[in-house]
Amino acid sequence: MMSQTLKRICIHWTAGGVKANDLDRSHYHFTVEQDADIIAGNLPPESNIPQNGVSLSGQPEGSYMAHCGGGNSFTIGISLCGMTGQNPNKTWKNPLLRSQCETGFQLVAQLCAIYGIPVTPDTVYSHYEFGLCNPSTPSAGKIDISVLPFLPSLLPNQVGGYIRGRVSAYLAQIQKVGQHKPAPQHAPTTGVNKPPVPAKPSTSRSSTSAPVPR
Ligand SMILES: [Zn+2]
Repeated sequence: MMSQTLKRICIHWTAGGVKANDLDRSHYHFTVEQDADIIAGNLPPESNIPQNGVSLSGQPEGSYMAHCGGGNSFTIGISLCGMTGQNPNKTWKNPLLRSQCETGFQLVAQLCAIYGIPVTPDTVYSHYEFGLCNPSTPSAGKIDISVLPFLPSLLPNQVGGYIRGRVSAYLAQIQKVGQHKPAPQHAPTTGVNKPPVPAKPSTSRSSTSAPVPR
């Protein structure tokens, strides 16, 4: 019997500009803009739980957020805005910013807390990592996220581990505080109990924020 819960989170960049566009809203459950605003997608994470032809969000099966070819079922998709015209010279018109990424990592931690998703390479990963591990899927060869512009010395195969380290730090904070904040709301779906959605993580550098490594 298929487990009816979200199991994984795949992290992307949009390869677009600094703001979420219609394409982003139709493919990712959450998009983090360059100024760290979190934009909810057109469908909630539950839309990626297939169940008897109808997803748990009440949408017909097939009406889900397609963000990770070959790995969409039970998988939440979040994306960081930017990386237009990525190239081997490592120059970008709209590079990912550290503050933006930290907001994204906090968001991933909140989703892990809400859905009981552990932070492991099998459950929290980049699209790049998924493609490497699943070479027969359409995700093979994806390069998001193989570089963090603010940490240029990180090798592509080190980026995922770095991200999981940051997510783990935020998750430890959440579990220490023992409460989840309210979240950005998706467009209402009729006839369905709305699931809890994470709040926009604070971007302040208060004493409760995880230290940001340099
Ligand atoms: Zn992607």
